[in-house]
Amino acid sequence: MTTHIPSLAVVIPCYNEEEMLPKTLATMLALRDAMIAKGKINQDSKIYLVDDGSKDKTWKILNEEAANNSALVAIKLSRNKGHQNALYAGLCTTTEDITVSIDADLQDDPQNIELMVDEYLKGHDVVYGVRSARHTDTFFKRFTAEGYYHLMKKMGVDLVFNHADFRLLSRRALDSLKQYGEANLFLRGLVREVGYPSSTVEYERQAREAGESKYPLKKMLSFAWKGITAFSTAPLRMITVLGILSGFASFSLIVWVLIVRFFTDSATPGWASVLLPLLFIGSVQLLCLGIIGEYLSKIYEEVKKRPKFHISDIVNKKD
Ligand code: UDP
Ligand code: MG
Repeated sequence: MTTHIPSLAVVIPCYNEEEMLPKTLATMLALRDAMIAKGKINQDSKIYLVDDGSKDKTWKILNEEAANNSALVAIKLSRNKGHQNALYAGLCTTTEDITVSIDADLQDDPQNIELMVDEYLKGHDVVYGVRSARHTDTFFKRFTAEGYYHLMKKMGVDLVFNHADFRLLSRRALDSLKQYGEANLFLRGLVREVGYPSSTVEYERQAREAGESKYPLKKMLSFAWKGITAFSTAPLRMITVLGILSGFASFSLIVWVLIVRFFTDSATPGWASVLLPLLFIGSVQLLCLGIIGEYLSKIYEEVKKRPKFHISDIVNKKD
């Protein structure tokens, strides 16, 4: 599909990564040179490093390195905005033909970038890095992470299994992605929304070499919850279903209470007059909440103002 040699941008969000950066920069620059030498990417290719409000020497290192090397672009955010926003800031700054996003800790083997570019050259707009094995993750991390993908699927959210934020985007895929104006960024979900021909590259995820994870359990849970609430109205729909089910249950119970009250002697005085309104009001309330939820989910879809389509190909259109 592509005949000219494309320019590549690699976007790396960095938060307190001073221990990792020397190695990351050396690896990325060597990879860039090797790919240029092989004629896969052109000389205009660059590495974008986004300092996400780090408190250590991350910015000092980036600033100095970028001053001495025109292949590096250093970007400093005004404060810590979180991984997804830092990544997005980098994506919005690139102008190259293709953009690859990767973490600073090299847990996702950068050698795969070359395979991703090969997939791009075959005509794919999006190439997902997929973890084939999680040997280096703890059992807990693997179990929760994989369970999460299954849960999201059940809620109707289209995610690529075991894919995080290591991916390649063509210029048109990235431009389409930038049309999404939402504040709660969950990029791996949005990229699926964007569409276009896609492919995957499988790799084994390594352990972090230096520094520590910037995603403690609390942040991980809040990110997982953000993914659900930014993409699915299933929890709201569950209220409606619950309301209907409790409506049926209450109705049966009400019949039972009436039978006990009028056809047996075992009803204590006051029992039916307390229980009947309780059952009735309880299920009516749940049903009403469900109805509000249904409207809320429509408002939720509307305020997102997501683009309704992206044209992938068009044949014989008159100007
Ligand atoms: N990161 C960031 N801002 C944050 C937290 C993390 O830019 O607030 C970056 C971090 O420097 C790394 C990437 O996001 O490049 C992924 O973080 P990490 O490797 O700590 O996450 P994990 O691999 O443990 O899930
Ligand atoms: Mg990591």
